[in-house]
Amino acid sequence: MFTLPNLPYAQNALEPHISEKTISFHYGKHHQGYLNMLNKLIEGTDYATMTLDDVMKNSHGRVEDTAIFNNSAQVWNHTFYWNSMKPNGGGNPQGKLHDAIIRDFGETQKLIDGLKNAATTQFGSGWAWLCSTTTGQLTIQKTGNAQNPITDGLIPLLTIDVWEHAYYLDYQNLRVSYLDTFFQHLINWEWAQQNYELIVK
Ligand code: MN
Repeated sequence: MFTLPNLPYAQNALEPHISEKTISFHYGKHHQGYLNMLNKLIEGTDYATMTLDDVMKNSHGRVEDTAIFNNSAQVWNHTFYWNSMKPNGGGNPQGKLHDAIIRDFGETQKLIDGLKNAATTQFGSGWAWLCSTTTGQLTIQKTGNAQNPITDGLIPLLTIDVWEHAYYLDYQNLRVSYLDTFFQHLINWEWAQQNYELIVK
């Protein structure tokens, strides 16, 4: 049985940018709902003894296990998303991640513009990602529904949830306003740096 990790901050800690109401539904209903469904689906199967990463990797692309993939990936993606934000976030990336951004994008603003563009143009539900290859090359990705770049051999550094449930209560249809706020006030660059430094050591 999988369990939900605690949120890395209080449910009202991202206010006024993301309301306590949004977080309480998003974490307490959506994230919890994916987890409950996953536990129900894997009970008594080979998946029941795997790590969450392995459930996701092994169910990916297996038509008969689509629901297991979708729910396991949504559990993974949301835990990663909570950590991709923090109260009083924003600012600029530092350290080895900063150096890699300069190398691969020229400047931080170009990376932010690229991420924003990926998040804006993801049609319908999905995710925008900053990823690294196994050799440290940075790449921007967008994925539909529950898809996660891990199944393409990439390593996620940071993600943005662009399902409507992530922003609709606070921003209604204005995904771009949510994204502007995300980069200005919420993004947790330290999380991305920490993940990157595990790759390039
Ligand atoms: Mn979500």
